Amino acid sequence: MINEAERRYRQSEKGKRTHALAHKRYREKKKGNYYGHYQTTPAPRLPRICRPLKSRFDEKWTPEPFSGCWLWTRSWNRLGYGQFTTKERPQLAHRMAWTLYRGEIPAGLSVLHHCDTPACVNPDHLFIGNHQDNSDDAYRKGRLVICERATGCKLTAEQVKAIKDDDRRYRVIAENYGISMGHVSEIKRRLTWKHIP
Ligand SMILES: [Zn+2]
Repeated sequence: MINEAERRYRQSEKGKRTHALAHKRYREKKKGNYYGHYQTTPAPRLPRICRPLKSRFDEKWTPEPFSGCWLWTRSWNRLGYGQFTTKERPQLAHRMAWTLYRGEIPAGLSVLHHCDTPACVNPDHLFIGNHQDNSDDAYRKGRLVICERATGCKLTAEQVKAIKDDDRRYRVIAENYGISMGHVSEIKRRLTWKHIP
């Protein structure tokens, strides 16, 4: 909205020039061209400069003085592992740490934590292992609870041993112990309770 004085000013010779210039600047700005008032061609797109991966990585963790862990300060996934996005895709930060500080991770192997802190990316706290190593490690540290100690488990080790030796029909055994036939089958086929001989 312009008032009467402004309207008269814009009709004057000086006003016409000034207003035209202001309007030109406005159009340039609308095009996203901030490089100068008189520039008519759009500014060239500058290539995105990527800093080396390691320096980008190193500014995203902070040392923890007591344990010596390097705690990841950027995004974490649902399980508490740090995430780091490279050009290709988001990656797990502790795997990235191994790649940057120790070298390639052999195919199919996992990077595990000595310190049991998922957000830690200190390569001294990491080691390479397979899936079994991971489970053993978790069991040793008390993270993985095997059946008898788990909540909601109906059987004891003695009962499982008895079921393994029991040669009645599965249906009878299931009714006897108050479990499903599928569970009996799993016990007999050693899919669960593997640690009971
Ligand atoms: Zn650590």
